[in-house]
Amino acid sequence: AAKAGGRNAVCTFDPQMQASLSTRADVESELRAALRDDQLRVYFQPQVQGGRLIGAEALVRWEHPQRGLVGPAEFIPVAEESGLIVPIGERVLEVACIWAQRWQVLGGAQAPVVAVNVSARQFRAATFVPSVAAALAQSGVDPGRIKLELTETVVLENVDDSIARMQALKALGVGLSMDDFGTGYSSLTYLKRLPVDQIKIDRSFVRDLPDDQNDAVIVRAIIAMAASLGLEVLAEGVETSAQQAFLEAAGCVRMQGYLHGRPMPPEALEALLGSD
Ligand code: C2E
Ligand code: MG
Ligand code: MG
Ligand code: MG
Repeated sequence: AAKAGGRNAVCTFDPQMQASLSTRADVESELRAALRDDQLRVYFQPQVQGGRLIGAEALVRWEHPQRGLVGPAEFIPVAEESGLIVPIGERVLEVACIWAQRWQVLGGAQAPVVAVNVSARQFRAATFVPSVAAALAQSGVDPGRIKLELTETVVLENVDDSIARMQALKALGVGLSMDDFGTGYSSLTYLKRLPVDQIKIDRSFVRDLPDDQNDAVIVRAIIAMAASLGLEVLAEGVETSAQQAFLEAAGCVRMQGYLHGRPMPPEALEALLGSD
């Protein structure tokens, strides 16, 4: 373990720690290479309302030369810690804006709104708001076709600063969604103050619907709260028609999940435009 304190602090050798450190460093340098060599892919998952495609969430994947398609859970944490999430997030946003602009041209008012995830470190970076403005301007997309997904934990970390930043984003014309809603602190007081347009009910509350009575109560409460605050509500992780039926009956008509489509390459999402 490391000996804290003195300037000559030493580390005694701990093979397990050594292994995890080198793994992390390896992933980090590989991620740098991935950015440089354009190995990151942006997939899109359909969001539907009454069978109609209303949106698509951009989800990053890493096309690793040896390991194949790697999911974000395996590299977003390293990207966050190393700061690489900032250029990765910018790349995802640029790609998402380009596709959203293309779908806007193809679909007009019927075009899906493209949702993009924003990580904590990315949101806090001084470059974030200008990078959103640049991605919008370079792609020429109508800002109203883009929705940024933030999580409660990110926003509530420093509420006043977050609200100012969110207002700057709203001023650019993009929509804001509260991702993974219900998993953080979910303070009603704060929610009322936040300039968000949408709440995404976390998959963990949807999974055991309609049988789990606790989840049923929580989901109904979130839907009622969203309605009373005038916010859109969308359920994530919808896998069965029984879940869909419960949600629709409870008043949540927007949903995303394997029932309606897995994350797919942009060309595949594009094939769904106007097919309903
Ligand atoms: P998220 O934003 O909550 O995204 C939804 C995740 O749930 C996605 O996992 C999606 O594939 C998965 N999912 C959707 N429908 C279903 C379903 O019916 N059943 C199940 N079991 N899973 C479903 P994915 O793509 O692995 O992404 C995981 C997380 O990684 C995302 O959670 C998001 O927090 C993060 N992430 C993905 N792309 C980006 C990105 O570009 N930037 C940042 N900062 N984070 C990202
Ligand atoms: Mg999300
Ligand atoms: Mg989510
Ligand atoms: Mg989630």
